[in-house]
Amino acid sequence: MRTYVLAVVAIWCCSLPAGAQAADRAAQAGSLPAFHWPHGYKAAVSLSFDDARTSQIDTGLALLQRLGVKVTFFVQPPGVERRLAGWKQAVADGDEIGNHTISHPCTGNYAFSLDNALENYDLTRMAQQIDEASEQIQRLLGVRPRTFAYPCGQKFVGRGLDVESYVPLVAERFIVGRSYLSESSNDPRIVDLAQAMGTSFDDTGFAAMKQAVDEAIQQGRWVIFVGHEIGQRGFQVTDTHALEQLCRYLKDPTNGIWLGTVEEIGLYVGQHQGAR
Ligand SMILES: [Zn+2]
Repeated sequence: MRTYVLAVVAIWCCSLPAGAQAADRAAQAGSLPAFHWPHGYKAAVSLSFDDARTSQIDTGLALLQRLGVKVTFFVQPPGVERRLAGWKQAVADGDEIGNHTISHPCTGNYAFSLDNALENYDLTRMAQQIDEASEQIQRLLGVRPRTFAYPCGQKFVGRGLDVESYVPLVAERFIVGRSYLSESSNDPRIVDLAQAMGTSFDDTGFAAMKQAVDEAIQQGRWVIFVGHEIGQRGFQVTDTHALEQLCRYLKDPTNGIWLGTVEEIGLYVGQHQGAR
């Protein structure tokens, strides 16, 4: 009888797909599968900037070139057209260009979005926003975005009983969909790359930036910083001096940090999540 039971269990176990077996082991162990960053890194950090603000080109580009740092710019095509030569230079420098829609729809409760409110969108209209942005970015800059940032960090269309998430639109088109004003960094063992967390570093000093990075080092996490303007510290402005200090800290090999674009790190996480 015992032999019969063991045989049945063995057949049942072996009929599970490999992923399900791994998940089952993780559930039995009461923890998620271990995750390891490459080359002995302890954590990962990406720097991202949204909205194709002109100061990203006018002030940021030279700073990032001097520091030898590659970042991810989530852009709307109309902003790219305002500094087209500069954006082409960013691509030549190796910076990543991500998609941030055409017209940046957010809730109409923001006055700037009253006439472009997510409450009045449906999934078809949002898909057009996203696909048209990718088409225009490719036409302007010769690169196809592989990552996306949710305008205002909001992920819905419609209202009330008719609200729908547009996360699946992002999941089927991009390696990563990045959120905004998140209160946590990303745990690579569990993060849903279609809704990765984004940590603001606007209006912040180096000490607070360093604290976020140090917590990621302790916990093996991925921080995606999010900024807007680059200049003197203020509302929606990432401070140039603090940014320079942060970049030097991130590039110091003794700190064990993988500084990469959202696409680079997202690809690695997607390929190694759940691996043993
Ligand atoms: Zn934005």
